[in-house]
Amino acid sequence: MRTRAGLLSAFLIGLASPFAWPSISEAGGCPDGGERIEHEIKSGQTLSGIAAKYGVSQRSLERANPGLDPNKIRAGQTIAVCLPADDSSSSSDDKGDPDPDAPKSKSVTSDGRSCGGGKTGKVHVVGKGDTLSGIASDYGVTAGTLKTHNRKLKNDPNSLAIGDEVLVCMDSAQAAKAKNSKLCGGVTPLHTHTVLPGEHLGEIAGRYGVRRKDLIKLNSSLSNNANMLTVGQKLRVCPEIAPHEIIELEHTVKSGETLSEIANDYDLTTNELLGYQRGKLDDANDLRVGQTLRVFREGNVLAGFGAVDVDTGVLTAGVQLPNGKHYVIKTPTNAWGTGQTVKLIQTAISNYRKRYSSSPLIHIGDISKKGGGKLSPHVSHQHGRDVDIGYVLKGDDADETKFISANAKNLDVARTWALIDAFLDTDEVKYIFMDHAIQKLLYEHAEKQGVSQDTLDEIFQYPRSKGRGHGIIRHSKGHVNHFHVRFRS
Ligand SMILES: [Zn+2]
Repeated sequence: MRTRAGLLSAFLIGLASPFAWPSISEAGGCPDGGERIEHEIKSGQTLSGIAAKYGVSQRSLERANPGLDPNKIRAGQTIAVCLPADDSSSSSDDKGDPDPDAPKSKSVTSDGRSCGGGKTGKVHVVGKGDTLSGIASDYGVTAGTLKTHNRKLKNDPNSLAIGDEVLVCMDSAQAAKAKNSKLCGGVTPLHTHTVLPGEHLGEIAGRYGVRRKDLIKLNSSLSNNANMLTVGQKLRVCPEIAPHEIIELEHTVKSGETLSEIANDYDLTTNELLGYQRGKLDDANDLRVGQTLRVFREGNVLAGFGAVDVDTGVLTAGVQLPNGKHYVIKTPTNAWGTGQTVKLIQTAISNYRKRYSSSPLIHIGDISKKGGGKLSPHVSHQHGRDVDIGYVLKGDDADETKFISANAKNLDVARTWALIDAFLDTDEVKYIFMDHAIQKLLYEHAEKQGVSQDTLDEIFQYPRSKGRGHGIIRHSKGHVNHFHVRFRS
């Protein structure tokens, strides 16, 4: 039986725990699973210099050394450094992939050789186990091409040695496919995202049109605590939306400017811009004339990335969507999909009807024709993985069986959101095309329903502009009277 003293000490321990802030040094490790080492500061070293030396952010150093004043470090002092977590442990089957933390690949060799002639050059440094044909296949070129641009190999293909620089010359199509990572199913090159100030995981997922789960799968550092991101942390991503270069600049606030106007000028949301100021500006109302804001805006699409979406194709082994009691099919001869697509449509609608036992029939438009191929007037809908679906409407428009434009008056926002949610829940949606104005209605509804900001940023393009590729739900012209779902498989 517990004594009174025992109870008292238990109480004291409980009381003490809020003050025993778990410091990294006590834990003996680092928050993202990286290795913790000690660095002795040398004369003249700055915190930012040390951060750069170890490839970590200054913020990470500050976190590893609570109470450390960056302006008062001295030679001889020892500080903790949390090295970035090693992601390779999570992916033993991808030895052939480039290390995303490695320095940016070069296009000119150390001895000055480059491709020229409109070709994209990559310098491959020969590693253990590399063969000529292996390197060629990794970059989608032939061994012959490698020999052409590397005299040493032309003279003696067997002269390949560890540390050699092999110049790989690719045309634009090859470059696009080059290094389409095995991690990314060979569909896209792997991209490394550097976490920006204030960014959370949903926002990063949205930037690349993927789900948070996809990021966690690719980054072992996220598996323990996906909510603890460090500025400068590197995350691997197989982008569905082509990555853009990120341009960092400073904006000096002028008289009369508001935060939302400034954000708008850089095609950012107010939240994004606020996040970038991390701690220096808590509220849009605190903005002062002359204040300097940090801005990270998107520039051009990065080389090697581009339209990865295949919009042409055929449909072998297609399945026709059968009639169902909760939906109506506009043109049954155009309702052929992959087995998976047909199953997912049925699952989503059936799960939607578990939420709403009463609902107008869901209006299914075109999927693909039998055998696939061009289905006029669509550009896509060729390989059985696209489906057009009418919004759930209310009032006089509820039972209309042709697509009619949705708006704030006739859109059944709650039911439509539940339907979209049921599709997203399948985890197999690659994207949904939806008019920006309708996104706004659903976004505001979802927000009111308590959907987290992280999820909203993961799913919706809105409140970003129509022009920003972001999220699973994106604007595309012609989607005011139906939404378009593209499945992954
Ligand atoms: Zn469509």
